[in-house]
Amino acid sequence: MIDFELEPAVIRMLDLYHASAEQMMRPISRQYDENEHEEPRQFWEAMWQASRTGANANEGAGRARNLYTCLTTEELCWGDAGLFLSIPNPGLGGAAVAAAGTPEQKARFLSRFRSGRPKWAAMAITEPGCGSDSAAITTTAQRDGDDWLINGTKIFCTAGLMSAERSEGFVVVWATVDRNAGRAGIKPFVVEHNTPGMTVVRVENKLGIRASDTAMLLFDNCRVPPSNLLGNSEVTPAGAFKDVMATFDATRPIVAAMAIGVGRAALDFVRDFFQRHNVPLRYGISPRRLTAIERDFMEMEVQLKAARLLTWRAAWMLDAGLRNNLEASMAKAKAGKVVTLITQKAVELLGPLGYSRKELVEKWMRDAKINDIFEGTQQINLMIIARRILDYSSKELN
Ligand SMILES: Cc1cc2nc3c(=O)[nH]c(=O)nc-3n(C[C@H](O)[C@H](O)[C@H](O)COP(=O)(O)OP(=O)(O)OC[C@H]3O[C@@H](n4cnc5c(N)ncnc54)[C@H](O)[C@@H]3O)c2cc1C
Repeated sequence: MIDFELEPAVIRMLDLYHASAEQMMRPISRQYDENEHEEPRQFWEAMWQASRTGANANEGAGRARNLYTCLTTEELCWGDAGLFLSIPNPGLGGAAVAAAGTPEQKARFLSRFRSGRPKWAAMAITEPGCGSDSAAITTTAQRDGDDWLINGTKIFCTAGLMSAERSEGFVVVWATVDRNAGRAGIKPFVVEHNTPGMTVVRVENKLGIRASDTAMLLFDNCRVPPSNLLGNSEVTPAGAFKDVMATFDATRPIVAAMAIGVGRAALDFVRDFFQRHNVPLRYGISPRRLTAIERDFMEMEVQLKAARLLTWRAAWMLDAGLRNNLEASMAKAKAGKVVTLITQKAVELLGPLGYSRKELVEKWMRDAKINDIFEGTQQINLMIIARRILDYSSKELN
C-alpha cells in the first residue's frame, strides 16, 4: 500500500521548521548573501540548540529517517539554501562515515554531533583535475609505519573551512592508496580538525549559496592514524568506491529536497504577487482557455510536484533498505533542472521586480543552479539513469 499523505504529527513538526525558516532565515538572507564570508554565528547557535532538541524528534522519525530529512530540508531551504548549508551538522562528511564506517567509527565520529559546541563535517572528493570522474582522484595516502600520510589538493569543499579549522569537526578525504588499482584503490580517511598538514588555502567567491563556505584544502604529509581509514584498508575490486556511490545515494535525495525548497520559495512568491495584483489563476478549466501566465505557473507547479514525488520515493526506498541508486539520480536530475527553470521563470514573470535586489527572487535564481552541479551534475546523473535502465557498466557508457 502506498500512502503519500503526511501524518498530522509530521505536519505539525514541519510547521515548526517553516516558522524557523520564515522568522530566523528569511530576515538575514540578504545580509549573508551580500557579505559572503561573514559568519552568521547567532543563527548557528540558535539552530544548533534547536537541532539538539530536534535530534529527539528525528529519532521519532523511526524508520523514515531519510524521508524525514528530505521534508525538513525542503522547509529550511524554502527559508534559505545557503544558510541551510551553513548550519552546524554532520553534513556530507557524516554521510560518508555512515556509508563507509565500521560500527565503532560511526559511534566515534558521529556521536560528537549530539553534544557540546556547534560542529561541522565535510567531504573532500573534488580536485583541480577531477570532479565528475571521481575515480581519477590523485590525492594519495601512503603508509608510514602504522599511520597514513595524505598528500594532495581538494577544491570546492562545502563547509571545508568550518570542518577543518573552526570547530571540533572533521573532513572525510578520498585518497588513493594504490594508483595502479584505479577505483579499487580509493579510500575515505577522516582527517580531524586542525590536524597538522591540513591547510585551508582559500574560500571561494560564488554565484549563489553565498552563506555556505566552500574551501580549497591542501594536504601536505598530513598524518592520520590507521583507525581513521573508514572501513578496511584492503584493495579489492569491489573496493571502497562503492561507498562513494552509497554516500551519493543517501545525499542526492537531500540535494533534490534542497532544490524543491528553493523552487517552492519562488513559486510561493509569484502566487502571492498574483493574488495581490488580481492576476487570476483559474484551475479546473480547459487548457485552451488559460492565459499564457496561467499555463506557465501551472507548469511550474506540476514540475515541482513531480520532482518532490521522485525525491520522496528515493528517500523512502533508502529507509526501506532498498537500492535506490537509479531513483536517487532521477530525483536529483529532475529537481536540479526544475528548480533552475522555476526560478528563472519566476524572475521572468515578475519582470523588473524579479530582477531587482529588493526581493529575494533573483537570489533564489542564483541559489538554484548549484543543485544542478554538486553531488553529480545534471549530465552525470542522466548518465547514471541511462546506465541503470539499459544495464550498462560505467566502462560501457561514460
Ligand atoms: C558550491 C560548490 C560546492 C561543492 N561542494 C563539494 C563538496 O563538498 N565536496 C566535493 O568533493 N565536491 C564539491 N563540489 C564539486 C562538485 O561536486 C563538482 O564541481 C562537480 O562534481 C563537477 O565536477 P567538475 O567541477 O570537475 O566539472 P567537470 O567534471 O569538469 O564537468 C564540467 C561539465 O562537463 C560535464 N561532463 C563531465 N563529464 C561528462 C560526461 N562523461 N558526459 C557528459 N557530460 C559530462 C559536466 O556535467 C559539467 O557540465 C562543489 C562544487 C560547488 C560549485
